[in-house]
Parts: sequence; C-alpha cells; structure tokens
Amino acid sequence: MERPLNAKEKLVLAALRRCGKPASAYDLIDDLKPEGVKAPPTVYRALGRLMEAGLVHRLETLNAFVACTHAHGRAVGSAAVALAVCEDCGSVAEFESQELSGILDGWAARAQFELRQTTLELRGICSACLGKAQ
Ligand SMILES: [Zn+2]
Ligand SMILES: [Zn+2]
Repeated sequence: MERPLNAKEKLVLAALRRCGKPASAYDLIDDLKPEGVKAPPTVYRALGRLMEAGLVHRLETLNAFVACTHAHGRAVGSAAVALAVCEDCGSVAEFESQELSGILDGWAARAQFELRQTTLELRGICSACLGKAQ
C-alpha cells in the first residue's frame, strides 16, 4: 500500500533534486528553513519514506542522501543500485545492473541470506573532472 508523498516529503525531495549532489540531513534543513521545515526528525522521517519509495538513496560512507536519477519502479527492493561518487566535484552517477543483482542474489540464496537492499558506492573521478585535469 503506497500513499502519496506528503507536503514535507515533497519539499525534501525537491531540495535534494535542486542540490544535484549528496546532501546531509543538516544541509537539507538549512535549505528548507525558509519553507518552514526545521526539525531534524521531520527531515529524517521524510528521507526514510523517500528511500522506501525508491526516490532517494543513502550514501552510507558520506552519511548523505541523493535524489534518484531514474525510476526503479516496484523492484527497488531487489535491484542492485550503484552510486559512483566523484571525489573531486562530488557529483553522483547512478546505475542499476541486472547482472550484478544476479550475482548477489545467487550468493544470498546459497548463503541463505535474506537480501533486502543493495547500494554500492564507487569512488573515483568523473569524466568531466578528468577532462578538466588534462
Ligand atoms: Zn535510484
Ligand atoms: Zn567530478
């Protein structure tokens, strides 16, 4: 059962999309103060709900959030999502891989591990930054 996003969730999602880079909950609170979203628990709740809906991903190592750049549809729970973070400019490119999902699902089945979510973080330098460096 999915309910539509509420007003605060929409504001948080819009702020993340505007940002275009990973943002911490506190970056978002700063950004949303003028719109009346000030309480950290409100922002964390909204982020939780947006992650459940597959609209936002969490970068564990940065403790930051990014707006999803494509729709995962209803299969978000099982799809392997990879987020490639540029260490230079902080941009994030996202891709999904069925092959990768297959490998991980295969391992999980053999290990009898109930795999609920996969988010891979790749670190490196994006093509734009590599171009600039030349
Ligand atoms: Zn995504
Ligand atoms: Zn870059």
